[in-house]
Amino acid sequence: RSLDQVLQDGIRDIQDYPQAGVVFKDITPLLADHSGFTQVVEALAASGRDADGNVVVDKVVGIEARGFILAAPVALALGTGFVPVRKKGKLPSATFEESYALEYGEATIEVHQDAFAPGDRVLVIDDVLATGGTVEACLRLVCRCGAEVVATSVLIDLSFLPWRERLAGERVDTLVTV
Ligand code: 5GP
Repeated sequence: RSLDQVLQDGIRDIQDYPQAGVVFKDITPLLADHSGFTQVVEALAASGRDADGNVVVDKVVGIEARGFILAAPVALALGTGFVPVRKKGKLPSATFEESYALEYGEATIEVHQDAFAPGDRVLVIDDVLATGGTVEACLRLVCRCGAEVVATSVLIDLSFLPWRERLAGERVDTLVTV
């Protein structure tokens, strides 16, 4: 199967979730499909390699919660470590935190202050880009740790939402555009 077919087969629309008027992209069918999941992990990991296939990152970051599911196998595929960026209050040691606006209210994400070695090159992974607020806050967190984001790789690009303007100047790779 082509990657496009895998994505078409594995991502379904859930109407009115988590609230009326929202169409939620559910990736659980894709995760349950071994060959499809394998292809998607390889495609996301490509953002951490150069044109010759050499790995050019030292760490892979996953954003809670669906980002974890994708980022951990990407890290193993690339032969790097994995770093979790979590919602506030979940990480046990000293953290940096960044807040960002949601449609209603605000959210805060955190990373351990010692999660990276100085100058670590980082690949950031998440499942969906909508407003871009989550990834933008994550990039600020990595930067505060003294590491450098090489690329962000995301499964689904909700192109009708303004993430592109928000992440202007950043390298962002996406596998499917909606
Ligand atoms: P943003 O910060 O770009 O507005 O929202 C992206 C975050 O919200 C991601 O972490 C993603 O997991 C979640 N998200 C927003 N919309 C959807 C959706 O339709 N499907 C899934 N799976 N996640 C979504």
